[in-house]
Amino acid sequence: MQDAVVAVSTLDGTRKETVQQVDVAVVGAGFAGLYLLYRLRKAGFTTVTLEEADDVGGTWYWNRYPGARCDIQTIDYGFTFDPELEGAWRWSEKYATQPEILRYLGFVADRYDLRRDIRFRTKVTAAIWDQAKQRWLLTTDNGASVSCRHYIMATGCLSSPKPPEIDGVKNFKGEVYFTGRWPHEEVKLAGKRVAVIGTGSSGIQSIPLIAEQAAELAVFQRTPNFALPAHNGPVPGDRKALLDNDRTGYREQARWSLAGVPYPQQTVVSWQLSDAERRERFEKAWDAGDLVYILTQLWADQAVDVDGNALLAELFRDKIRAAVKDPETAEALTPYDHPFGAKRPCLDTNYYATFNRPNVTLVNLRQEPIEAITTSGIKTGKRTFDVDVIVFATGFDAMTGAIMAVHPITGRGGKSLSEVWANGPQTYLGLTVAGFPNLFMITGPGSPSVLSNMAVSIEQHVDWVVDRLTAMREAGFATIEATEAAQAGWARHMADCSMLTLHRLANTWYTGANVPGKAQGVMPYTGGVGPYRSICNEVVDRGMLGFMLSGPSVAEQCNDGEIVRLQPDVRLVLNMLAEMKLPPIESFGFQGARDFVAQFNASRPAGRPVGEIVDGSLPGPDGALSYRLYRPATPGPHPIVVYFHGGGWVLGDEQSDDPFCRDMCRRTGMIFVSVGYRHAPEYRFPAAAEDGYAATRWIAEHTAELGGQPGPVLVAGWSAGGNIAAVTCQLARDRGGPKIAGQLLVCPVTDCRFDRPSYNDNAAGYFLTRSLMYWFWDLYCSPADRTDPRVSPLRGKLAGLPPAFVVTCEFDPLRDEGNAYAEALTAAGVPVEQLQARGHFHSSFTMVDMVITSVSGRVQMAEALRRFAGLPPQATGGDEARRGQLASHKLAAAAG
Ligand SMILES: Cc1cc2nc3c(=O)[nH]c(=O)nc-3n(C[C@H](O)[C@H](O)[C@H](O)COP(=O)(O)OP(=O)(O)OC[C@H]3O[C@@H](n4cnc5c(N)ncnc54)[C@H](O)[C@@H]3O)c2cc1C
Repeated sequence: MQDAVVAVSTLDGTRKETVQQVDVAVVGAGFAGLYLLYRLRKAGFTTVTLEEADDVGGTWYWNRYPGARCDIQTIDYGFTFDPELEGAWRWSEKYATQPEILRYLGFVADRYDLRRDIRFRTKVTAAIWDQAKQRWLLTTDNGASVSCRHYIMATGCLSSPKPPEIDGVKNFKGEVYFTGRWPHEEVKLAGKRVAVIGTGSSGIQSIPLIAEQAAELAVFQRTPNFALPAHNGPVPGDRKALLDNDRTGYREQARWSLAGVPYPQQTVVSWQLSDAERRERFEKAWDAGDLVYILTQLWADQAVDVDGNALLAELFRDKIRAAVKDPETAEALTPYDHPFGAKRPCLDTNYYATFNRPNVTLVNLRQEPIEAITTSGIKTGKRTFDVDVIVFATGFDAMTGAIMAVHPITGRGGKSLSEVWANGPQTYLGLTVAGFPNLFMITGPGSPSVLSNMAVSIEQHVDWVVDRLTAMREAGFATIEATEAAQAGWARHMADCSMLTLHRLANTWYTGANVPGKAQGVMPYTGGVGPYRSICNEVVDRGMLGFMLSGPSVAEQCNDGEIVRLQPDVRLVLNMLAEMKLPPIESFGFQGARDFVAQFNASRPAGRPVGEIVDGSLPGPDGALSYRLYRPATPGPHPIVVYFHGGGWVLGDEQSDDPFCRDMCRRTGMIFVSVGYRHAPEYRFPAAAEDGYAATRWIAEHTAELGGQPGPVLVAGWSAGGNIAAVTCQLARDRGGPKIAGQLLVCPVTDCRFDRPSYNDNAAGYFLTRSLMYWFWDLYCSPADRTDPRVSPLRGKLAGLPPAFVVTCEFDPLRDEGNAYAEALTAAGVPVEQLQARGHFHSSFTMVDMVITSVSGRVQMAEALRRFAGLPPQATGGDEARRGQLASHKLAAAAG
C-alpha cells in the first residue's frame, strides 16, 4: 500500500496524528470499489480504497454460506470495460458459485494491480465535510484518517446484515452463523440439529445443502417466496452464441435494457393468449431457469398489471403444490401476499423438494411466531426446538444500511445524513445528496441498483462519476453538489416511476419493510436501467442540470432544474417518437396524415375485451354516419356515452380511439358509442359540430334499440372530439334536447386563440405541435367563422350546461384553453371537476396501453361519468392504479 501520509499537528500543537491526503477516497472493494480504483487511477487521481474485509470481493468475500451463487447468469454478471479482461476469463457454470466469483474479483485485482491502493481491515467510521478546506475527512478504525476532495461510497446495497430481531440470541449455547458473515473455515453441520431462520435468497440457496448434511433441519419461515429452479450447468449455448457472435452489440443491448440483461421486450399481452399458450410460455421459462427471463419474457403486462401478474403467480403456485408432497407444507410455502416479482424471487436447486425429506420441518411463523431463543434452541408459540446450530439467513438492511453505518456523515453546515434521511433516503439520481458536496454513492437508493444486473449498473455509475470528476478538474471546479430542487424533482420522478410497477404492493427489503423502524418506500429506481442511463446522460448534456459547481478561480455554475418533468412512460413514448425522426404530420398532406395515423394505430397493442362490439350507422344531417358501440360484459341496460374521437377534425374515425373506448367502457360499466363524424377539409365547419349534435340526438332517441338505458345520455370526447362534445352540450341546451347528463372533455379544443402560454411552452416536442394545430384549424374553419361557439365553445353562453369533467395535460398546447373552459363553466354556475394531469401530454389518456401512469386519470374520469349518470361508484377490487395496462415492449423499445 503506497502511503501518501502526512503528519499534522492538532490545534494545541501537542498531539500529532496522521492524515492520508488523496484526491478521491473510495470505501469498499467489491465490484464497484475495484472498478472505481481502476478508473480513477487511469484518470490520474490520487486514490485510496478503504475496505473493512481483509481482501477484495465485497458481497462475494462475505457471503460464503453453502450454496451461495449469483442469480444473474455469469456471462452477464461481470466487468465489460475491458474486452481483453473478458477474453481472459472463462466461467465454468451458468451460475457461478461464490468461490468462483471471488476468484474472478481477485483475478481482476491482480490483473490491474489494484491491491496496492487498498487499505484492508480498515473500516470508515465517520465522514465530515470541511467547508473551509472543501475536503472530506474520513475517520477509520485502523490507521490514518483520510482527507480527500471527493468521497465515494461503494459500500454495497446488500452488505449490512440485518441484526436478529429475536430476544435471547446471546443465551444460546450452540453455534450461531449469519449467511452474510459466514466463517472462512469449514462449518461442520453433519449429524447436527440445525435451525435456519429466513427464507429469502440466502436461505433458499443454503437450505437444500444444509438439509443434506444435518441430522435434522427446522426451517423458520415468515414470508414464503417464489423460487425458480436454476437448472444450473454449463453456460447455455444459445446465450453464449449470442454473446460470441456480437459481443459489443450484446453488451450495449444490456446497457440500454430494462434490467441490465439483453432480452427483447414482450409484445403480447396476457389477454391475447389462451390458457394453453400462457402455460406453454410459463413452462418454457420454468425450464430456462433464468430469473430475468421469467420476470420479463412471459407477457407484456406481467410486471405492471395485477391481473396479468396473477395469471403467472397462479401457474407458479401450481408448481410449488406439485413439488411438495405434504399439502399443508405446500400451502405454507406458497406465496399469496405479493405479486410475483414485487419481492425478489429466488433461484433454487431442489428447494421445494427439500421439504419432502424426513429430516426437514417447516415452521410457519405466521402461525407460530418465535417467542424466544433459549439456551438450547428456539421456542415458538406452539413448541420448542432443541438445536445445535442456528443459521440466520435474515437478509440485509438493504441499500441504506452500509451508508448509514458510517456515522455521522456530516455535510455542509453540519447537516447529518441520518437526519436528512430520517424519513427515507433522498438523493439526486441515487448518486448524490443535496447538502453533501463531493459525496457520491455507487448504486445508492434512487438508482436501479438491486432491480438490475448490478454489474451493468455499477459500471454505468462508476463511468458517470469518474467522467464528471475528470470534467470538473479540466474546468477548474473543486466542488459539486446537487440542488434541493433537483433532488425534490428526482423524488417526484421516483414516485411516478413506482406507479409503473407492482413493487409498491409488497412489503419487502426493496421498500425497507424488513427492518423494524426503517422508513418505508420503494428505494431502488424502478424506471429501468436504459432509461436511467439516458437520464444521467441528459443531466450532462443539459449543462450538469441540477448541480452546483464551484472552484477557486472559476465562476460558480448552477444550472438548476428538474431533469424529468414528464411522467416516465410519457418520456419514453416521446423519446421513441423522437427517435423515429418523423417529419411533421402536416407535411404528409391530409390523406397522407390519415394513412399515417391508421398505420400508427394498427401497431398498437390489442385493447382489452369488452362484452360486445357492434358496428353500425346512424342518420346524420347529410348522409349516414358510422359508429362503433362498445357494450360492457355486465348485464344491461347501461347508460350510454356518446363519444367523439380526436384528430383535429381532420384525422381518425370511430375506431381510432378504440383502446380508450374499451377501457372506459370497462371502467364505467357504460355503453360507449364512438361516432364517425365528417372530416375536413372535405367537410369544413360546421360539419363536425352538426354531426356530433345530430348523432347525439339520434342515439338519445334510440337508446332502447341500442340496448341502452332510457333517459339522458352523456357525451365525451378527446381533443377535437372534446370540442365536439362541448359544442354538442351547448346545442342540445339551445335546440330543445336531447337531455345530457354530463360531459367528459379530455384535452378539448375550446377556443381559437393561440396566444395562451401553453401554446408557446409546448409548441413543439410533445407530439401535438402548435403548427399542427394551426394546420387543423386552417383545414376545418375559415378565420371568419372561428369565433362561432360551434367551434370556440369558450365564446358561447355557458350557463345551464350539464356538469363537466375537464381534463388538461401539463405538456399540451391546449392546456390553457381547457383550463379556461373549466373556469368559465364554473363561473357560469356549471358543476365542474378538473384533472390537471402533471407530466402528461396531449395523448397520455388515449394511449391506454402505453402510458400506464394515465390509469388513475381514467379511473377518475370513469367515476365522474358514473356520478353524472347517477350510478354508484364502481367496485374496483382495490388499488385501481395498479390495474395499469401496458405494452412494456413499447417502453423498452423507447428506452433502447
Ligand atoms: C448472496 C448474494 C448474491 C447476489 N447475487 C447477485 C447476482 O447474481 N446479480 C447481481 O446483479 N447482484 C447480486 N447480488 C448483489 C451484489 O451485492 C452486487 O452484485 C455486487 O456484488 C455489489 O458490489 P458492490 O461493490 O457495490 O458492493 P459490495 O460487494 O457489497 O461491496 C461493498 C464493500 O464495502 C465494504 N464496506 C462497507 N462499508 C464499509 C465501511 N464503512 N468501511 C470500509 N468498508 C466498508 C464492505 O466490506 C464490502 O466489501 C448478490 C448479493 C448477495 C448478498
